[in-house]
Amino acid sequence: MVIAYARLAPYASSFAQSRGRLHTESEPAYRSVDQRDGFQRDRDRIVHSNAFRRLEYKTQVFINYEGDLFRTRLTHSLEVAQIARSIARSLHLNEDLVEAISLAHDLGHTPFGHAGQDALHAAMKASGAEDGFEHNLQSLRVVDHLEQRYAEFDGLNLCFETREGILKHCSMKNAQTLGEVGQRFILRSQPSLEAQVCNLADEIAYNNHDVDDGLRSGLITIDQLKEVDLFAAHWNEVLRKHQGLAQKRAVHETIRRMISTLVLDLVICTKSRLYDGQIISVEAVRATEPLVAFTDATKAASLQLKQFLRTRLYRHTAVAEKMNHAQGVVQTLFAAYQHQPHLLPDEHKENQQKIGLRAISDYIAGMTDRFALREFDKLTRTG
Ligand code: MG
Repeated sequence: MVIAYARLAPYASSFAQSRGRLHTESEPAYRSVDQRDGFQRDRDRIVHSNAFRRLEYKTQVFINYEGDLFRTRLTHSLEVAQIARSIARSLHLNEDLVEAISLAHDLGHTPFGHAGQDALHAAMKASGAEDGFEHNLQSLRVVDHLEQRYAEFDGLNLCFETREGILKHCSMKNAQTLGEVGQRFILRSQPSLEAQVCNLADEIAYNNHDVDDGLRSGLITIDQLKEVDLFAAHWNEVLRKHQGLAQKRAVHETIRRMISTLVLDLVICTKSRLYDGQIISVEAVRATEPLVAFTDATKAASLQLKQFLRTRLYRHTAVAEKMNHAQGVVQTLFAAYQHQPHLLPDEHKENQQKIGLRAISDYIAGMTDRFALREFDKLTRTG
């Protein structure tokens, strides 16, 4: 009897065809019994990294201590990995690669979500670091340079395919400094299908979990959400089928159905694009337009949801107030380390002499929300 293993499609990334790692590694003794391939080892290196554990205390929308049920960057990353794996399995893509990319995709995020990132970017630019701060590039810095776990090299020395998936966007100027992994921004070619899947799995994850967290926080309401077609359609259907269902359960059932609808649409649409484009190799994937996509109708529905969240939740005064404070925290920390470098921990102090403002940016970007708040308290109390 033949056991049916999940087969990789010809357009999937396989480790056998990987462009390899930055540094050559000596083979550890256990390699003879190690059944993992390189992408699985990448995932494991990410899970064991410091930056990965810090995600538990980093916020996306809600400050970490606001409630135990709100998403953190860690649970967000796990949800992205789950959605990406299920899409990858349906398309016969490499599940291990999408898992590695998903778990690493937010490693470079600052404390306090986008507010922290904007503040760090502004502080870097104002201090003369022209390229400012980009969180995608920072995620790559984390895995290429900042993690210090291996005797033989800096960073985690991940495979090219994992690194290209992590670097979702990049300015042309930065791309020119990044070697092979920056090439596609210069050549305007596409990353692997696995990287494209993670990109949209990220969007599916945060749009849906922000509905859930938004409702839990009381900052948005079901009545408001009924303006969003995707939500309204599933909400009405759930209530029609399950009369008298408790509201919390109806919300979860609705969100579950929304995620399924988006995933199903993505899989079907991508399959037909692969078929229409007669895509039968990774090279063909790279040479054309993005292939992982929603249908036009679903893309519009997803955009409507995203816009709703932007105006009703992310720009809600209660969120904005917290985020303004967070921006002040990041600005204060940056100015303090810039003018009093002795406040930096030793390893960053050394880096500051070597690499200047980037060392300050690395230190702040690595902070969790609560660590940044504690440092801020210390500085403003004694300063
Ligand atoms: Mg994300």
